[in-house]
Amino acid sequence: MIVATSNRAGSGQRPERARTRLRKGDTVFVAAGREKGKTGKILKMIAEKNRATVERVNMVKRHRKGQGVQSPGGIVEKEASMHLSNLRLVCGRCNKPTRVNIRVLEDGKRARQCHRCAELVDG
Ligand SMILES: [Zn+2]
Repeated sequence: MIVATSNRAGSGQRPERARTRLRKGDTVFVAAGREKGKTGKILKMIAEKNRATVERVNMVKRHRKGQGVQSPGGIVEKEASMHLSNLRLVCGRCNKPTRVNIRVLEDGKRARQCHRCAELVDG
């Protein structure tokens, strides 16, 4: 086994966790990239890659081979993942893409909060 001599940050025991405040099910606004301006719901988070798939955003065509009567194959469209840095949470109250603050509640729990209107994103 080859031992790396470089001491890169994040090469320790603790894997670099996504520093995102987004979650599956959130409505997000695409702020950059090919699909700029669209909004959709997060279908899947890929935290270790800092990516997410967003409903009806970044659709790609996949050419599938048929696998019997149940799945006849052909061209299927599906969402491709995109980088989290391109996504902004949409606040349910102000209905705008916003930054997310973390508020520590009285019971010590952390809640996400809209940066614009201070509405709690999740209870
Ligand atoms: Zn808001």
